[in-house]
Amino acid sequence: MSLTMSIDLKQIKLRDLFDGYVNSDEDGVVGYGGRLDIRPKYQREFIYGEKEQLAVIETVKKGFPLNTMYWAVARDENGNKILDANENETYELMDGQQRTISVCEFLANHLVVNFQKFFNIQKSTPEFAEQILDYELSVYICDGTVADKLAWFKTINIAGKPLTEQELLNAQYVGEWLTKAKEYFSKTNCNAAELMVIRGKKASDYMSGSPIRQDYLSTVLQWIAEYQGLKPRTDEGDTYMANHQGDDTATEIKNYYVAVMEWFGSKFKAYRKEMKGLPWGYWYNKYQRGELANNIISKTADEIEAEIVRLIGDEEVETVKGIYEYIITGEEKYLSLRQFDDKIKRRVYEAQAHKCPYCDQHIGGHTYAQGITEYDYKEMEGDHIVPWSQGGKTEENNCQMLCKWHNGHKSNN
Ligand SMILES: [Zn+2]
Repeated sequence: MSLTMSIDLKQIKLRDLFDGYVNSDEDGVVGYGGRLDIRPKYQREFIYGEKEQLAVIETVKKGFPLNTMYWAVARDENGNKILDANENETYELMDGQQRTISVCEFLANHLVVNFQKFFNIQKSTPEFAEQILDYELSVYICDGTVADKLAWFKTINIAGKPLTEQELLNAQYVGEWLTKAKEYFSKTNCNAAELMVIRGKKASDYMSGSPIRQDYLSTVLQWIAEYQGLKPRTDEGDTYMANHQGDDTATEIKNYYVAVMEWFGSKFKAYRKEMKGLPWGYWYNKYQRGELANNIISKTADEIEAEIVRLIGDEEVETVKGIYEYIITGEEKYLSLRQFDDKIKRRVYEAQAHKCPYCDQHIGGHTYAQGITEYDYKEMEGDHIVPWSQGGKTEENNCQMLCKWHNGHKSNN
């Protein structure tokens, strides 16, 4: 923390905090006579569950202390204080948003217009209302540069649910670009979630996580960084966000996202639930780089769909999700192909007199055994004589037991 920063501890009464409280949901929340921005740009959306809100309210009703909250003196880009109409300094809430909103929402729901009477709570006497309104919050008021405040914000990431990596990065790269990107990617029912992809299915059917917890933004930022060959993000920062922090629009990342969705929308005719949360952007990137040219994904949507149906019908394939990975990458390991069970393997092991047929024939570069060694059962693995790709089944007559070395070095071609 720099020497230029000042910190004051103040006691703020709930009646003052609640004065002028307006909650316009994701568009902004203010209180403290209009002087406190309860949800400044770097703050996350309100995510407390009902249980956590009740815990906060119970604490206040019993008069127990809540953890200290942190406000920052609001300053503009030139470092001048942002004052209200009466020349009072204004504040941004840095930590304690969820507790603040929980309490204010409680008051908003239980106070009538005259501000003194309570509905719906056990001790709804005027005295009790006064007692609640006189409840004092401990607030640290911090004043310093933007960098000071952001450093502090990262440090005081306390109480309640920890911030996600993306929420911390958002605190670091405040600006018009972030505002626009969050409008598109980070609100309930945002365009990034509602975008139509295949036959009435929306992008949210393909993306995992929650927009307001910044999962979409986080995912797409990592996809586009890889597309552009940028250094992967770390705790210290995100190169794409740094490069675009000063932009007026977030058009590039929006267009990229739409291109990813359109690409797989053109490749897959049908929706299956296993498509949710797959790494579509990384696959789009590989496809654009020509790295998937030999794989099934390079075929037409009709051919791809026929292949998916065939694979789902194949008893040897034990996954549906992995079929998509296989179509894209061409790697059989994603198909979870059936394995021989212990009974079959044990019988074949005994029939082979505990020997590896490849060692026996001096195949490959395995010089250890040379056909002399009898292996322990656990030193051997079941192998398909005719591989799956050539129509081999997981049946006893297609099973051979190989030493681990040979099983690991056997080619299926
Ligand atoms: Zn062997």
